[in-house]
Amino acid sequence: MTSSQELPRYAHYIDGKEVPPSSGEYLPTEDPFTGAAWAQVPRGNRADAEAAVEAAQRAFAAGAWPEMTPSERGRLLWRLGDLIVENAARLAEIERRDNGKLAVEVVAQVRYMGDYFRYYAGLADKVQSSVIPTDKKGVFAYTRYEAKGVIAIITPWNSPLTLTSWKLAPALAAGCTAVIKPSEFTSASMLELARLFDQAGFPRGVVNVVTGLGPEVGEALVTHPHVAHIGFTGGSLAGRKIYELAARNFKTVTLELGGKSPNIVFDDADLEQAVKGAVSGIFAAAGQSCQAGSRLLLQRSIHDRFVGMLVDFMKDVRLGDPADSATQIGPIATRPQFEKVLSYIDIAKREGATCVLGGRARPDLGSGMFVEPTIFTGVRNDMRIAQEEVFGPVLSVIAFDDEAEAIRIGNDVAYGLAAAVWTRDLRRAMLMTEKLQAGTVWVNNYRATSFTSPFGGYKESGIGRESGVEAIKEYLHTKCVWISSDLEVPNPFVRR
Ligand code: NAD
Repeated sequence: MTSSQELPRYAHYIDGKEVPPSSGEYLPTEDPFTGAAWAQVPRGNRADAEAAVEAAQRAFAAGAWPEMTPSERGRLLWRLGDLIVENAARLAEIERRDNGKLAVEVVAQVRYMGDYFRYYAGLADKVQSSVIPTDKKGVFAYTRYEAKGVIAIITPWNSPLTLTSWKLAPALAAGCTAVIKPSEFTSASMLELARLFDQAGFPRGVVNVVTGLGPEVGEALVTHPHVAHIGFTGGSLAGRKIYELAARNFKTVTLELGGKSPNIVFDDADLEQAVKGAVSGIFAAAGQSCQAGSRLLLQRSIHDRFVGMLVDFMKDVRLGDPADSATQIGPIATRPQFEKVLSYIDIAKREGATCVLGGRARPDLGSGMFVEPTIFTGVRNDMRIAQEEVFGPVLSVIAFDDEAEAIRIGNDVAYGLAAAVWTRDLRRAMLMTEKLQAGTVWVNNYRATSFTSPFGGYKESGIGRESGVEAIKEYLHTKCVWISSDLEVPNPFVRR
């Protein structure tokens, strides 16, 4: 067994340099499949966070970055996109070792990140100022969009690089600088990606990475006076804390939080396709996905048949080593998450739901952090298993009679991240897309996302939007400029 001293050590990336943690302390980073630590990442503290923010503030205020035109910034982003694609296999391998996601899935995700950076490369010089039609005489009014400043980017362990890109690409295109704090469970891939910023030609200090624990490094970033905006993806608990801390100084935030998304199948749907949609909705990434379709709402007339098809589809699914291309479901990424998923399976059983598939851990596989794909029927929407986010391969099946009931149940949760509807009836599809309270509604598909389309939540699923043209506005102030053409300023004390 390798002792922790022998493991490779990463460093923070601050002001274009690799910097060891000022405390000298490190956190192990573990492979969820083998259970073995394979590297160490710095356990940052307030001093490290401050050094990174100061570097980002210097780069924002002076030097090459603010001197660049938006088109020049766009060229750097494009180059970074190319470098990400060239390095996709290596980055994906590191990310997979940290979070246990299927290798094929992570490679595809990382390659697609290249397109995110290229999209915002193109957008950098297309955020147009606009002339404001005005009711006043003798004035010309227009808007300017100005970079907010230093952005703190705080991300979770499920898709570390992708969820960072969703924030970093538009923030850089807007002209901001950034300090990134990845999840303490999955920091290595971000520290590897940091090495590409130099190669792409970004001036030092424009992008910085500090690793460590949320309350130690994350809070230091959120509360730092030079941080203007926080881009966060993660759980509701940390999201609420960050929102409260940011509010003290009226900082703006983009929050992408959890979900309990309804995947609604009507009896007129193409059921074969809907089964595949239900499976990818909940079992992709072993359910560790914010947009998971964790509540399957089935019209009563097809309920039993659909559940039978679903169980049949899942019966030969292969759990195993995420590096093996034949594996279909990998391990749970972290020990606390593994325990949380199992506890929810117990809760569902105690609440009286019926387990028709899975329902157990698989200690015989890898390091033992596997949970069988699990399906519960007989779930009522007021049960905890229907209301609370599990973030694992656990599906709650709920029966409904008609459109009105599907809408009521679909919306009856604190979350509002996504929803899907399976139907061949156009009127019904349109009605559902109008009535469902969710930031994304898919019709006859599940899980499509793109750099072109805004993503975010209603209700407790978050604030603001990522991706698409909307995302760049999160990182820009809107300034209104009034220019007078009157030769004489009216005397305020003389009534006209
Ligand atoms: P988490 O909220 O525990 O941690 C996310 C990040 O926040 C980590 O980097 C963590 O160190 C940091 N953090 C924790 N406490 C903090 C604090 N007080 N101040 C500042 N930073 C703090 O989430 P997780 O367990 O890593 O990820 C799982 C959660 O993320 C799930 O609830 C899931 O729904 C959510 N998620 C949402 C989306 C989305 O786009 N909506 C995507 C992926 C994951």
